[in-house]
Amino acid sequence: MQTELTRIKNFIGGEFVEPDNIEPATGKPYSQVADSDARDVDRAVAAAENAFTEWSKKPAAERSRFLLCIADLIERDLEKFAPAESIDTGKPISLARSLDIPRAVANFRFFATAILHTESEAHITDNVAFNYTLRQPRGIAGLISPWNLPLYLLSWKIAPAIAVGNTAIAKPSELTPMTAYMLCEIVSEAGLPNGVLNVVHGTGPNVGAAITAHPKINTISFTGGTVTGKKVAEACAPLFKKVSLELGGKNPNIIFADADLDAAIAGSVRSSFANQGQVCLCGSRVFVERSVYKDFVDRFIERTAQLCLGDPLEEKTEQGAIVNKTQLDKIKFYVDLAQKEGGKITLGGSAPHAPNERCRDGYFFQPTVITGLPVSCRTNREEIFGPVVTITPFDNEEEVIVYANDCDYGLASSVWTQNLSRAHRVAEQINTGTVWVNCWLLRDLRVPFGGMKQSGVGREGGEEALRFFTEPKNVCIAK
Ligand code: NAD
Repeated sequence: MQTELTRIKNFIGGEFVEPDNIEPATGKPYSQVADSDARDVDRAVAAAENAFTEWSKKPAAERSRFLLCIADLIERDLEKFAPAESIDTGKPISLARSLDIPRAVANFRFFATAILHTESEAHITDNVAFNYTLRQPRGIAGLISPWNLPLYLLSWKIAPAIAVGNTAIAKPSELTPMTAYMLCEIVSEAGLPNGVLNVVHGTGPNVGAAITAHPKINTISFTGGTVTGKKVAEACAPLFKKVSLELGGKNPNIIFADADLDAAIAGSVRSSFANQGQVCLCGSRVFVERSVYKDFVDRFIERTAQLCLGDPLEEKTEQGAIVNKTQLDKIKFYVDLAQKEGGKITLGGSAPHAPNERCRDGYFFQPTVITGLPVSCRTNREEIFGPVVTITPFDNEEEVIVYANDCDYGLASSVWTQNLSRAHRVAEQINTGTVWVNCWLLRDLRVPFGGMKQSGVGREGGEEALRFFTEPKNVCIAK
């Protein structure tokens, strides 16, 4: 537990700097988290521009060593990062320790080594010419991330961007800036050349918008909500920036009668309520084949009711806090709406008693299960981003495919079945960027990751990320 409040500073040009954050009424600094603006983004751009020439020319093996060192240092400090992430986000410390921080380490290691194994394309034009494709770093990348998986998602962008030779300006969510700040300390310790990574803290309208509008930042990788994604796209389009958008989801989780029900129930509880349902990939629409519907619902509710909701810093806690009051109010709004739309609250539906005195004024909500809703109602179409799932029965494969696709989002889905042919058939027809079969959240960092429809544009991960952050240039040599 911290006894003194930590002042979270920007990291520009290799220095920790604290921009003046003046209260207009007093003319004095009042905030303990940097509330930066376009001028700070300008400073970061100057630092990033300055660093680019040397960094982009460094041998890949040298860049790789810096990233590997950063990974090692985060791993060394796991026991500092995990509580910080838990305090910052409200997620259970066990989740931060087992998932978020190790995945951030894995991101740096993956891209550090990926750049040592890339291939170059060559095309021979008959007897006429020989073409080869150079993939060069694009310059300064703007990296904007959300609050739900702060270090994990920011490192998923920083690592490939700088690995291939770009310099970067990263903006973590203003709600969860702590682990990004700690990463800057690690980066400084690792000796990454000044200006290669710059972190500017602040709000979306102040810092995020300044990054997307900056003419010298030509690449934008954004993860966040679909409404914000639209603003980012609008800001970037007139400047012809290269943009990747990883946006919201309303993911179907389909359980066929031939599934291993024990595995499906355990997997579904996890995919519904991990991080209090605040993972973009959570399966918030559960569809169950009618013949096993009752059995599934009963056992799913029994398992969910056993989840330990508590102080995020306690080891046994499985359900922590919601990130802020705005998000909590949004969840309550949708639970009310579900009832107006004819849904039945089968479990949860309200704020629980505070788990302890420390958490008396915290933002908690019970894991909530809603049944009896029509597939096309608002509760089933709009992203809630909290511990709330709906469960709906279906009669056959064709019907559930229609249900699954009856949504503007298309991020991810899960299918539980023991029938291999059905698994392939259904996976092919569901319009989501990822389809998990008999699992959830299994990641191979080489596969393309991203969403269809309003869940995003572009893909991250593996080769896709290396391509996104580089510019292909064809060199055509006449024979
Ligand atoms: P958000 O869109 O409110 O904010 C995301 C980031 O954008 C923050 O850093 C914010 O400060 C910044 N921002 C806000 N306005 C901006 C603007 N005008 N210009 C530039 N940047 C701006 O999202 P959130 O509430 O932080 O995160 C939750 C959302 O993120 C959910 O919709 C969730 O599904 C989505 N998400 C998607 C993925 C994915 O991989 N597809 C992963 C995690 C979260």
